[in-house]
Amino acid sequence: MAMNRVQFQRGLSMAEFIQLYGSDAQCEAALIASRWPQGFACPVCAGPASCSFRRQGRLYWQCASCRYQCSVISGTIFESTKLPLTCWFLAMHLLTQAKNNVSALELKRHLGVSYPTAWLVKHKLMEVMRLREDTRQLTGRVEVDDAYFGGECSGGKRGRGSQNKVPFIAAVQTTDDGKPVVACFAQVPFTTQAVEQFVAKSLVRPLTVVSDGLRCFMALEGAGVHERVITGSGKASVKLPQFQAVNTVLSNLKTAMAGTYHAVKIAKYAHRYLAEVQYRFNRRFDLKSILPRLVRVAAVTKPHNRVFIREAELGC
Ligand SMILES: [Zn+2]
Repeated sequence: MAMNRVQFQRGLSMAEFIQLYGSDAQCEAALIASRWPQGFACPVCAGPASCSFRRQGRLYWQCASCRYQCSVISGTIFESTKLPLTCWFLAMHLLTQAKNNVSALELKRHLGVSYPTAWLVKHKLMEVMRLREDTRQLTGRVEVDDAYFGGECSGGKRGRGSQNKVPFIAAVQTTDDGKPVVACFAQVPFTTQAVEQFVAKSLVRPLTVVSDGLRCFMALEGAGVHERVITGSGKASVKLPQFQAVNTVLSNLKTAMAGTYHAVKIAKYAHRYLAEVQYRFNRRFDLKSILPRLVRVAAVTKPHNRVFIREAELGC
C-alpha cells in the first residue's frame, strides 16, 4: 500500500514542543515575536519608543509618547488569564497536532485545570480558528454537498431528527483530478438564499461547482459552470466519483468528531467545531508550522469576553 505523505509526515513531536515552548519565558518570547515582529509598537498610538520592566514575572512596555502600559497578552485572547502561557501553548499544540478533535474533557486532563477552564481555553482557541477561516475562499473545481453536524440523516427527511443536528454545506476545492485541496464548511440552512450568500462569500471564479440535485443548489447556477449530478433519493452521492473529495472530507470530519463531543451540547457551538476541523484540514500539508501559525494569529486576535464565548449557554 502506498504511504500517504500527508498522514505520515513528521509533525511537531511532544519532545520538540517541550524543547521549544517548555518554559513561560520561551512562550512569552514566541508571543512577542509573533505580535511585534518588527519590535514593539504601542497598541494605542503605534509609537515605537518605549521602556520596559517586569511586574510579577511578566514583561511590560510603557509607551514613550502616550505612557500606555501593556504586556504581550494585553488586548489579545490571552488577556487577564490566570493560566501560565505554557498551559495555553500546550493546549494549542494538542488542538493542532491531534489527528482527531481533542475535547474539553481531554484537555482538562492534559492541562491539569478544571473543566470550565479547559472549556474556555478550547473555545477561545476555536474562535481564533473560526475567525481565521471565516474569509476562506475556494476556486477552480469545487465539490459541494449538504450534510448534518452531530448526526446522520441518511434516508430520513432532511432537517428532521434529533435537536443536536445542524445543517451545513461542505465545499471542497480539488485538483483537476479530484484530490482535495482546501475545505470550507458553512453552517447555513438549505435554502436558495443561504446558498447564494455562501457563493458570494466563499466561492471565487473561475469555478466549476459539482453538486447533487438538492433544490437549494440551483443557486449555484450563477456561480460559474455548475455540474448538477442527479443522484436520486438519500445520500446515493456518497458512492459517486464526482463527490469523492467532499465525501472523503466529510468522512474525516465524522471520524474527528466521533466519540469526542457526545456529552456536550455540540449543536449550539457547531460553527466553532466545524471551524476547528476546517482549520486543521486546510493546514494538514505542513503539520510543523500549524502551531507557530496559530500562535501568530492568537497574538493578534482581540479578546472575546466570556459572555460572547458562552453565548449559547446564556440563551443569546
Ligand atoms: Zn502610545
